[in-house]
Amino acid sequence: MFKLEPLPYGYDALEPYIDAETMKIHHDKHHQAYCDKFNGALKDNSELEEKSPEELLKDLDGVPENIKSAVRNNGGGFVNHNFFWQILKKDVAISGKIKEAIEAKFGSFEKFKDEFSNAAATHFGSGWAWLVLNNEELEIMSTPNQDSPLSVGKVPLLVIDVWEHGYYKKYGPDRPGYIEAFFNVINWDKVNELFEAANK
Ligand code: MN
Repeated sequence: MFKLEPLPYGYDALEPYIDAETMKIHHDKHHQAYCDKFNGALKDNSELEEKSPEELLKDLDGVPENIKSAVRNNGGGFVNHNFFWQILKKDVAISGKIKEAIEAKFGSFEKFKDEFSNAAATHFGSGWAWLVLNNEELEIMSTPNQDSPLSVGKVPLLVIDVWEHGYYKKYGPDRPGYIEAFFNVINWDKVNELFEAANK
């Protein structure tokens, strides 16, 4: 059984950019539901529970066919949200090696922000926009539904949840407004830590 950890901060920690009620519903209802359904899919497959959720997503071909889509969707939902919570923190300035790497790859931080925001704004329907490492190169990508970059061999560094449940209460149909606000709650220290760990 995998367990849903509490948020590593208060529900109101990201106000006013992401409101407390959205955080509470997002974590306590949506994320909990992915966790429960993921555990439900694995309950007759105890050998799979010996692997980490991330390992299961990295090798979906190793998951039995009858539960593969449940693991992809609900295991993905469980892991993606665990990751999302840890890269959120209000008012952290970008610094360190990730800053240098982003400027080298995209030309400037503003160009990176434009490209990332565009990927998040134009992703059709529910999903996620990511900054990942692909063979040690920074790359922006988006995934539909609860798909994880781990399933295509990439290393997540940063993500924004563009499912409507993540922003609709405060922003309504203004997804670009939510994306702009998101840039105030990126924990760049954590992103830098992930980047340095992946580059070892
Ligand atoms: Mn979500």
